[in-house]
Amino acid sequence: MPLLDVSKLKMNRGERVDFQCREKLPPLPVEGEDIKPTQEVEYRLSLTNADNAIVVDGIIKVDLLVQCNRCLDSFVYPMEAQLQETYYDCNLPQSGDKQPDWVPFSGDQIDIAPEVTQTILVNLPMRFICREDCRGLCSVCGVDLNNNQCQCPRDELDPRLAKLKDLLN
Ligand SMILES: [Zn+2]
Ligand SMILES: [Zn+2]
Repeated sequence: MPLLDVSKLKMNRGERVDFQCREKLPPLPVEGEDIKPTQEVEYRLSLTNADNAIVVDGIIKVDLLVQCNRCLDSFVYPMEAQLQETYYDCNLPQSGDKQPDWVPFSGDQIDIAPEVTQTILVNLPMRFICREDCRGLCSVCGVDLNNNQCQCPRDELDPRLAKLKDLLN
């Protein structure tokens, strides 16, 4: 779990510190299945004491083990996403400019795991394709057409129609 130590930062208004680390992240629940990071998540963040809040901003990089929607093969999908969150100390009296999307924390540490998970989830593509020209599975016999040929009759579709069919699948 990525925990940000803000004990010193909290004391110094306007101060900004860099935070870099690699940490494990548990599997991400996506539509009833778990997507597993294949290695530690890389964080390159900056933390700013913005007077009444701590602003966390930067990049997270993660490799996810996913399944191709066409050929059902597993492959590694590298992702880089921007994390931007504002955290406020819920033990301090709040001034009027607290925004509804600010995330509360207490003590000297901020656990950013929920926001990291959220950021990865919203940046996932609608579907995963292992490679641009993945030929997928034969719709009749089910062989992987990337590695095999079969004798099944297939309508030679107009490429534009094929694309449309693909979108509908
Ligand atoms: Zn594929
Ligand atoms: Zn076939």
